[in-house]
Amino acid sequence: MSRVYNFSAGPAVLPEEVLKEAADEMLDYKGSGMSVMEMSHRSKVYDEIIKDAEKDLRDLMNIPDNYKVLFLQGGASQQFAAVPMNLMKNKKAGYIITGQWAKKAFQEAKLYGEAVELASSADETFSYIPDCSNLDIADDLDYVYICENNTIYGTKYKTLPDTKGKLLVSDVSSCFLSEPVDVTKYGVIYGGVQKNIGPAGVVIVIVREDLISDDVLPGTPTMLKWKTQADNDSLYNTPPCYGIYICGKVFKWLKKMGGLEAMKKHNEEKAKILYDYLDESSLFKGTVRKEDRSLMNVPFVTGNEELDAKFVKEATAAGFVNLKGHRTVGGMRASIYNAMPKEGVEKLVEFMKKFEEENK
Ligand SMILES: *Cc1c(COP(=O)(O)O)cnc(C)c1O
Repeated sequence: MSRVYNFSAGPAVLPEEVLKEAADEMLDYKGSGMSVMEMSHRSKVYDEIIKDAEKDLRDLMNIPDNYKVLFLQGGASQQFAAVPMNLMKNKKAGYIITGQWAKKAFQEAKLYGEAVELASSADETFSYIPDCSNLDIADDLDYVYICENNTIYGTKYKTLPDTKGKLLVSDVSSCFLSEPVDVTKYGVIYGGVQKNIGPAGVVIVIVREDLISDDVLPGTPTMLKWKTQADNDSLYNTPPCYGIYICGKVFKWLKKMGGLEAMKKHNEEKAKILYDYLDESSLFKGTVRKEDRSLMNVPFVTGNEELDAKFVKEATAAGFVNLKGHRTVGGMRASIYNAMPKEGVEKLVEFMKKFEEENK
């Protein structure tokens, strides 16, 4: 068996320890005589899995009691619709456009009400986070929406926008559990887990209790109403059982690693290795304004498409895979999520230095 260094943006690298544990438990989960894939979601043994997962996530993020945690299906993209359906009482919301995922959410919201663009960094291919310290926020906005870490472009909010008292809704798909957050600053935090937590198929929605009600847009499907899911502890219908089980294991792994403070430190160290090299290299360049750099997704270019392609090809052959940039931006992107070991980044930088030397 040989594992590669996987820099995929998602689905992405998971802790090897978790994969091994899951493999050990595959045929017989804790004496149940069956795999977690084969058991009823209403069984006692599964109930423990999902309850434990929720409890560990609450511990990790310090989630206050007045927030519900929902484990749902449909990916982050389905929440692009669920957010306006559940929150647009005045049928008006503000969106900050920092990349493709924010834009998709914005366009989806337009199907349900008036979506207002509050700020955008489209003018410079989303290579920075706009100044959000004094946005023009109308009094009747139902919420302000952000994509907190921009997976494709490699930017992240270092300070949250001043929403002037309006609810903040944040898509954290690609920075979930990468550092501590103050949950009380948000109305809703949500993300697909396949970037930094677990297998595709699970989206976690953390939502303040007073925002959960039957007062949703007419025509909202039962399944997309947060109240349906909250009232049934995410077991209204069959949840993505196996995915939740793996997420639970990753939560335990994170706790063992020292929690989110320790993760932040670890992630900062890893990102620094790569960014420091990009800043000194005469071949490779980072594409993002320094203050807004993501700890998770690091895009870079050589400035020459052929050389980019050569780099990706040689890196792949050397065991550094999925470094090709998003199809819409080109170049390279190294996603260095929680489960990417420091050694993976160090070795990548070594490889980049060698490539630079050979291609002067
Ligand atoms: C990947 C991603 C999405 C889309 O997730 P799906 O689960 O595929 O719908 C949305 N937002 C962000 C920030 C992402 O990185």
